[in-house]
Amino acid sequence: MGLEEKLPNGILLANVEKLVNWTRKTSMWPATFGLACCAIEMMTVGGSRYDIARFGMERFSATPRQADLMIVAGRVTNKMAPVLRQIYDQMPEPRWVLSMGVCASTGGMFNNYAVVQGVDHVVPVDMYLPGCPPRPEMLLDAILKLHAKIMDEPINAKRAQIKAENGETTPMIPSSERFAPTGRTALKRAERQQAAQRKEMGADNELGMAGVEQRKEITGGEGR
Ligand code: SF4
Repeated sequence: MGLEEKLPNGILLANVEKLVNWTRKTSMWPATFGLACCAIEMMTVGGSRYDIARFGMERFSATPRQADLMIVAGRVTNKMAPVLRQIYDQMPEPRWVLSMGVCASTGGMFNNYAVVQGVDHVVPVDMYLPGCPPRPEMLLDAILKLHAKIMDEPINAKRAQIKAENGETTPMIPSSERFAPTGRTALKRAERQQAAQRKEMGADNELGMAGVEQRKEITGGEGR
């Protein structure tokens, strides 16, 4: 925007950063880029059952000039790669890329000369979505994680440096947990912590027994 370069760092800039990122994530229009079967799942999120309009994203743009997010849905052939790059280049900044499905991310089962082995060979990818095909809920989850990433994006180089020095990263929490009622989330977290503790204790016990056995072997059965 240019404004952020002139503002002093601190509370004001941090708040401007939040505001700018919020406007960016709440006005994200995807570019139409369905290439194979994954595109059917992508189209499904536009329907009433999944309702991508909840996030202001129902307008899949037919022109890259009015799109912020490229959802690469399906395998990218070598023939299609330059077209994909051209569309990406025509999208205005800031822009994001979501690689949908194993084919777009890695070439998937199409390990041959005709298919690009990962769309990150052609454009920078912000979010990878596994699955063949990923379900519409998974696409929504990936989009919400991308929103979380956008909310944490530094607004200028100085803010980026500060965030890097503080070791700030965006935690990739599953949407089912991030947006669950607080009680349920807390309960799940507590259960997970307990399970991890139990696992740790079990591992300690096993290690302890293994150590005793080893010592017995070394000391000839005395176990000291
Ligand atoms: S990941 Fe599966 S569903 Fe998606 S394009 Fe490849 S083969 Fe089709």
